[in-house]
Amino acid sequence: MDTLYLVIPCYNEEEVLPETSKRLYEKISVLIEIKQIKNDSKIMFVNDGSKDKTWDIIEELHRTNHVFCGVNLSKNSGHQNALYAGLMEARKYADIVISLDADLQDDIGAIDEFLKEYYSGSEIVYGVRSSRRTDTYYKKTTAHLFNKLMISIGVDLIYNHADYRLMNKRALDCLSNFQEVNLFLRGIVPLIGLRYSIVEYARNERVAGKSKYPLGKMIHLAWDGITSFSIKPIRIVSGFGLVIFVISIIALIYILFSKIFGNTVPGWTSIAVSLWMIGGIQLLSLGIIGEYIGKIYSETKNRPKFIVSDILITKNE
Ligand code: UDP
Ligand code: MG
Repeated sequence: MDTLYLVIPCYNEEEVLPETSKRLYEKISVLIEIKQIKNDSKIMFVNDGSKDKTWDIIEELHRTNHVFCGVNLSKNSGHQNALYAGLMEARKYADIVISLDADLQDDIGAIDEFLKEYYSGSEIVYGVRSSRRTDTYYKKTTAHLFNKLMISIGVDLIYNHADYRLMNKRALDCLSNFQEVNLFLRGIVPLIGLRYSIVEYARNERVAGKSKYPLGKMIHLAWDGITSFSIKPIRIVSGFGLVIFVISIIALIYILFSKIFGNTVPGWTSIAVSLWMIGGIQLLSLGIIGEYIGKIYSETKNRPKFIVSDILITKNE
């Protein structure tokens, strides 16, 4: 029997926390009762710099029951960093950690399966969505496109897996050795290797409140995912450059011949078009290269990914 920590990043989740905490508490109590996990297992909420009462609720939960614990970040650091902060804190005490969203879209019924896989030898268990019935059309298509894109540029992703996963202490220790500042956990965890398995679950609707992932944050995550794991975009840029170069040589020969045979026409259109096109491609290419330089810049500075301002953990005994 092992100690389990559930790690839940929360950003402005005052609406769902009362319900989430209740359901998670029921779940963890049952698991303790049927001796699946030790009785010092905990539910850890990470407050990612919420602007609402999220942290107050977490403090209150901790006061009333020490099964709840809390990590308070000094400011909003993003879902991935908040989750990472929680994982790094939890690995100090836990044998197993399961990360999930505060809105309970990740079906907590799957936790039994997770544990079964863990006890039969898996060190990482990935939760994979079997259906996206409850997702909006918009969410479904963007997520699908993103998954496809990532896999096509060669990132080793588990299809339809988000951040609902179990990791044991060894996997977490390995994760802590990845020093990346631009975190994209879905891409990093598969790099750890170790023995893993996959558990399917149906994705629920948000218990309450609205998505904390507006389009901007989603694009940001996707872009981080792509540029932290693949240099394909830079290759594509180089490929573009090569093609344009070849075309320009052909054009040059053509122009010279036209000149020699004296049938030059005032080709304003072609000049204007190529000017704009090449200008555009150059700017785009510079932008992409700049993006990578920016990544290198933030990685070399090696700034902390998050800053913890409070920790509420009371160990049993
Ligand atoms: N979240 C966070 N920091 C942020 C944005 C989101 O910790 O800056 C948390 C949020 O509280 C939730 C999880 O990340 O527990 C997933 O967010 P959400 O459910 O809003 O995303 P969606 O399900 O719409 O992709
Ligand atoms: Mg959600």
